[in-house]
Amino acid sequence: MKRHGKRDGEGALRSRIAGAFGRLGRAFGRAVYPPDVTCDLCGAELVADTRYNLCARCLSEMPFTGERVCLCCGAPHTDEADYCLRCQRTDSVFRHNRSPLVYEGAAKQLILDLKFGKKKYIAKLLGAMMSDDYLSRGGDSEIIVFVPMTAKEKSARGFNQAELLAREVGARLELPVLPALEKIKESLPQKELSAKERAENLKGCFSAAYGEYIKGRKILLVDDVFTTGATANECASVLLKNKVKEVCVLTAAVAKPAEKS
Ligand SMILES: [Zn+2]
Ligand SMILES: [Zn+2]
Repeated sequence: MKRHGKRDGEGALRSRIAGAFGRLGRAFGRAVYPPDVTCDLCGAELVADTRYNLCARCLSEMPFTGERVCLCCGAPHTDEADYCLRCQRTDSVFRHNRSPLVYEGAAKQLILDLKFGKKKYIAKLLGAMMSDDYLSRGGDSEIIVFVPMTAKEKSARGFNQAELLAREVGARLELPVLPALEKIKESLPQKELSAKERAENLKGCFSAAYGEYIKGRKILLVDDVFTTGATANECASVLLKNKVKEVCVLTAAVAKPAEKS
């Protein structure tokens, strides 16, 4: 990127943001799915236009994060404080995470169906919810980057769900999706590890690519679930070392932080 191009870059960014808000208005005004398909969660036939590919019952059971969220991790938050206990105790290098859903109940089922049931079409539904959440909260990112898998992990599953979500979100927000992170080392499954162990487990697992394209840019990092923030933080720190301007995180669902430490 040439230095004298900066003004143009800012102008383009402003018009892109204005465009995003215009799209927000239009997007909320129309239904996404025609009434000739079945609910992505329970398989019931949809009898009316719906914004998301879900029947009324499954939609009513969907645990959306809602208005009041922790300013860092995006989990629902009723406390007076701006940040939840998890985020008060953790240093994060990304600006914030935002998620349309809480990782529980019907939302957890959707994500498990996508990842382990190999129902790739669910990425379209989750991508629609993620895009709406991003627009309603006024995001201003320029490039989407997804959390990568190693080649071995990807061939075991057949796809990378973070990449599928990134492509859906990119198409809806009209933002470029760049594979600017590579996973170069296997990590242990995160599930049984503590927050501290998760952070250690991921050290040295990621490296950056397309350095000249991401430098100075606002990155939207996409993943399926935000649990302790260890993955988002490690990916963000690799991107920041490669001189991106900032990293915001967008995930389909956020795990509720533990109530007590
Ligand atoms: Zn349903
Ligand atoms: Zn938090």
